[in-house]
Amino acid sequence: MKYLDEYREADAVMKYAAMIKKITTKPWNIMEVCGGQTHSIVKFGIDELLPKEITLIHGPGCPVCVTPLEQIDKAIELASNKNVVFCSFGDMLRVPGSKKDLLSVKAEGGGVRILYSPIDALKIAKENPDKEVIFFAVGFETTAPANAMAVYQAKQQGIKNFSILISHVLVPPAIEAILSSPNNRVNGFLAAGHVCTIMGYEEYYPIAEKYHVPIVVTGFEPVDILNGIYICIKQLEEGRAEVENQYSRVVDKAGNLHAQNIIKEVFKIRNRKWRGIGEISQSGLGLNDNYSEYDAEIKFNLNDIIVDEPSECISGLILQGIRKPFECEVFGKICTPEHPLGATMVSSEGACAAYYKYRNKMKV
Ligand code: SF4
Repeated sequence: MKYLDEYREADAVMKYAAMIKKITTKPWNIMEVCGGQTHSIVKFGIDELLPKEITLIHGPGCPVCVTPLEQIDKAIELASNKNVVFCSFGDMLRVPGSKKDLLSVKAEGGGVRILYSPIDALKIAKENPDKEVIFFAVGFETTAPANAMAVYQAKQQGIKNFSILISHVLVPPAIEAILSSPNNRVNGFLAAGHVCTIMGYEEYYPIAEKYHVPIVVTGFEPVDILNGIYICIKQLEEGRAEVENQYSRVVDKAGNLHAQNIIKEVFKIRNRKWRGIGEISQSGLGLNDNYSEYDAEIKFNLNDIIVDEPSECISGLILQGIRKPFECEVFGKICTPEHPLGATMVSSEGACAAYYKYRNKMKV
């Protein structure tokens, strides 16, 4: 398969692993921001091909994992309303809220629907004028354009029984939060290729300069990731801190301007709370004033909910790269994909789920 097989080719993988070994003289910590890259790393054993000086740290780039407990509880409250059809991507249904999850609400007869696109929610709204249809708008810059388009079309078409529950977060402020933390131990970043497909990578230049850290836009296949690590280590060994693009077959510097325009039309940047991490200034999206009638939190007058994370779950530390999943005491014991205690075990991009699925030796 063109553009896939050649990026999984064993000879190329071993060639990059050897090149990395050859240039590495010191210990370096590299963070892959995206959960999709974490899954590739664990699935293909990429970390085990690296010299012992290099540590890969898994970052907070899993949209399901970073959706705050409060937003899950709000989703459950909305989905429990008999007049509501609550629409969501499937991954969100098993994420534990403080008392139950959306799947339980569905099992109890709640109007929960699994969708692949927010535009489908709009269609359901048109077909069910007597119901309120709400879409759970979660994710990074990658899902924001489609969610923005659904709201834009709702306004254009005068659809009043549609709204979104928003939990949109942005990658660059999270990178800055990690770099400015006193606990930071990251020397270089692999930036998520699909986020840069939308946003380009110019916003990384000031971060690389301010914190003197290399940021390499990287794809998702084994050769991509090893190539990204090689570029990053080369910069570190040479004392450079630049933004480079490993994923040029997909990403260009400016990104997708049409997607950026629809995001700007519908959303504005605001503070957001990240599950397990806390609030990060200017790290998320909310609806612009022109579109506030489509904000489910306003429409349904949802009060702020304050809840504590379960004490046994250390997913906040895992999302910041401070701990690895197998360092959690309940990993594989009372926390499994069938009975998850935290979102990082539920999501298909979650770090705990990746280790559970691919590292059998760590299962209990
Ligand atoms: S193994 Fe389970 S409890 Fe531990 S950090 Fe991961 S999700 Fe949380």
